[in-house]
Amino acid sequence: MGLKKNTIISSVALAAVAAIALPLSSTLAETAEAEESAFREAMKFGFTGQEIQGGVMLGDAPAGTQSLSFDGQPVPVDEDGKFIIAFNRDAGQSAQMVATLENGQTVKKFFSIAPRKWKIEHVNVAKRSGGPSSAFMARRRPELARINAARQVKSDSTGWRQTFIWPAKGRISGMFGSQRIYKGTPGSYHSGVDIAGGAGTYFVAPADGVVTLAASKPFSLEGNLLMLDHGMGLNSAFLHASKILVKEGQIVKRGQPIGRIGATGRATGPHLHWSMKWNNARIDPILLTGPMD
Ligand SMILES: [Zn+2]
Repeated sequence: MGLKKNTIISSVALAAVAAIALPLSSTLAETAEAEESAFREAMKFGFTGQEIQGGVMLGDAPAGTQSLSFDGQPVPVDEDGKFIIAFNRDAGQSAQMVATLENGQTVKKFFSIAPRKWKIEHVNVAKRSGGPSSAFMARRRPELARINAARQVKSDSTGWRQTFIWPAKGRISGMFGSQRIYKGTPGSYHSGVDIAGGAGTYFVAPADGVVTLAASKPFSLEGNLLMLDHGMGLNSAFLHASKILVKEGQIVKRGQPIGRIGATGRATGPHLHWSMKWNNARIDPILLTGPMD
């Protein structure tokens, strides 16, 4: 990975301006300074995205990066230095990224992760006591195994580099991260965003991906479950579909219809539940799409 083209051009342009305006000795000094600042720029990380819980950031690795780690975990980096990281819903206040360069030097970036104000609802009923029945678990275990296996698929999809679009338009009936507290005992938080309505209408791929799970019969909670891998550890799950229109292993393009909205599995009415993960981090899809227009 060399210096970025535009930084080289700008340092040449600076030198040209300096050559007109200044005597020779200053010109050389200015040129050296411009080159050094371009070099320092190339030695830094570049990021776009939000440093908040549930957030995702696209990164540019420093020039000469050989490997990257995020809080001690290796992060793959593409040939042009681009990569992705994300902060879990319950991420702590800080995180650290380290690039190890070809010359053995390291470049560090510290993140201050802003906390979110999640929608918390206190309800005056006790959380159901007792775990799931053994009959339920007998059915559930193989479903969980399939979900976990789908998340292990590492496709070479480049969907992770794209701007995500909404898979369906409609009223948002459930926010990512919202949670009920049952007489002081927290229930599990909502893992995705719910888009209400439109039974039988299409939903589309929010970005390019590879189909890693297309349930042939409804899962006990998720119903007809569809999962996509967008590459680099980023994946999407779509729950409760009335129909799935794609097959496992199929490559899909952003905007392509992939299923129809339904109410299969544990759902009170027709809606699309869309959840996203980056490795083990649960992330807020709205932070990838922006608000619905
Ligand atoms: Zn949901």
